[in-house]
Amino acid sequence: MMRLSLALFAASTALVSPVLSQDVLDTMTDAVEQVLPRDRPADREASSEPEAAEDAEAEAAEAEADEAAPLPRPRPEAADAPAAEDEAEVDADIEDDAPAEDDDASAAEIEADGAEMEADAELPHEVVPETEVPPERIYQVACPAMLSGQVEGRLLEPISEGACGTQSPLEITAVASGGRMVPLSSPITTNCAMATALPEWVATIDGYAKAMFNSPLAEVVTGTSYMCRARVGGATNFASEHSFANAIDVVGFTLEDGTTISVQDDWLPAAQPEGRMLRLAHGAACSAFSTTLGPEANEEHEDHFHLDLGCHGAACTAQLCE
Ligand SMILES: [Zn+2]
Repeated sequence: MMRLSLALFAASTALVSPVLSQDVLDTMTDAVEQVLPRDRPADREASSEPEAAEDAEAEAAEAEADEAAPLPRPRPEAADAPAAEDEAEVDADIEDDAPAEDDDASAAEIEADGAEMEADAELPHEVVPETEVPPERIYQVACPAMLSGQVEGRLLEPISEGACGTQSPLEITAVASGGRMVPLSSPITTNCAMATALPEWVATIDGYAKAMFNSPLAEVVTGTSYMCRARVGGATNFASEHSFANAIDVVGFTLEDGTTISVQDDWLPAAQPEGRMLRLAHGAACSAFSTTLGPEANEEHEDHFHLDLGCHGAACTAQLCE
């Protein structure tokens, strides 16, 4: 009966002032714990601070003076204390009409588990009806260089060959320079990053061609672009950037007056216009791409420039120019 009075008291106090009621509840809880014969080691440990102990003693004295002090409900944080059974009794006293739903639910779960296990044992596992799986949706991305007309070409289907491939490959056939399109000798399969880096480089070479030969660039002679293979010219088995459509090889250039400039034939002699033109093109590539390899790099590259946007350095900001 005293406990019921507590509940009513706490509820009415809460209506008046939630903050005050919490203080009152704490105070009363401490007081009652002092007075009651029950031993609650967890709570004693929890309030082991000297101040708290003193407060508890003072409050206990107050509680003795006021014999009508109602019993508080246990504090929520005491739920894990060893005296859980005592609290369960208190709860039961107050909420006599609460049904034991948890027990029923647990029993039902156990029964269900048992039924499942029996069913598993009876069903042969290999009987799995084959259902038709709808084709996976292909997610690809657009390329701004193509949207803005800086390159001409089309989006290809995703490429996936073991470790090689790329999600949104492009087939590029021409690159913009000075308001016109400079065709590639053969279409390249590459990614958007390379397609984005190409126009500025081609435009630079176009400018060199006009200045040095008085003839604009007519065609970029392209070599290998996407190809699933290991890196060449090195001692490692790392995949080449060609494997990710992130590299192209350029063999040379053709000008509108018919002049051909070939890496293989014209890198040397360096002092000839074609040789100088190729060095300028190589130098311009070093700022446009992260990797530029030419005849000076190794004998694998004596007949072409290898250009890619592979990652060098921890932040992918280092450039390899050989
Ligand atoms: Zn290459």
